[in-house]
Amino acid sequence: MREILAKTLLSAVKQPEPWFGLRYNMNLYRGCQHGCIYCDTRSECYGIDDLSDVAVKVNAFDLLQDELPRKRVKGTIGFGSMNDCYQPLEADLRMTRRALEIIARHGFPVHILTKSDLVVRDLDLLQRISGVYAAVSFTVTTADDELAQKLEPGAPLPSWRYAAMAQFSAAGVCSGVMMMPVLPFIEDNEENVQSIVRRTAEAGGSYIVAGLGMTLRDRQREYYYAQLDRLFPGLRQKYERRFGERYSCAANGTARLEAVFREACARYGIVTRIPLYGPQAAVQGRLL
Ligand code: SF4
Repeated sequence: MREILAKTLLSAVKQPEPWFGLRYNMNLYRGCQHGCIYCDTRSECYGIDDLSDVAVKVNAFDLLQDELPRKRVKGTIGFGSMNDCYQPLEADLRMTRRALEIIARHGFPVHILTKSDLVVRDLDLLQRISGVYAAVSFTVTTADDELAQKLEPGAPLPSWRYAAMAQFSAAGVCSGVMMMPVLPFIEDNEENVQSIVRRTAEAGGSYIVAGLGMTLRDRQREYYYAQLDRLFPGLRQKYERRFGERYSCAANGTARLEAVFREACARYGIVTRIPLYGPQAAVQGRLL
């Protein structure tokens, strides 16, 4: 772990942003201990040579205290775009918790994206922030714990994520699932999609946002293919034949999977968009 000084903390999100309704993005860490084999943060454009070498922005709180009062728009702040804000280091460092305390004092809405049940530690704060708006989204790409251990080796198991989701739902905090990526030839089957939807419903989640496929580029692709060779011999060749150098890699039978997904969500009363913070909800309604 390294300490670094950041110049700014909140970055403005290009508007309109219909998926999470974010106005600002915030990263307290650079790098991520979860080590997902498909992680896009390995792409060259982000300039992170070693994803597991995590840097901590030690001046984040001074920056946040300074920047928040100067924002004219109280838009949603997103946590967890290029790292997981509840990766294992957070248990001791409490960077995310301290940032949430400052945000709660300033009355800004928040969206959390995580693969970790550590977020339950901050349920009290998120419940308070949900008086304005808070949504806690758990990324689940497979409901199978054994498979997840291969694909997301440093992250808590999906069953733990669902247990955490149940606690948020019981506490009345809006919670649901980001089902993305859905890895071609590994996770793009009806059973997986059905099981993610069913488990979300059982945990009281109210939404699932799906991305049926994945993206691959430069260094991210190299790392992913090396892991396929280790974990699923022969699969790299299928990817190379199907996708070549393509960035966007769709799931097999996307239309069929999409239909299965929508039918299962309808059956369980789960919506396929995140309910957004008031002012952004109108924009979402126009765009989607
Ligand atoms: S949790 Fe997210 S940021 Fe961290 S390694 Fe996995 S995909 Fe990358």
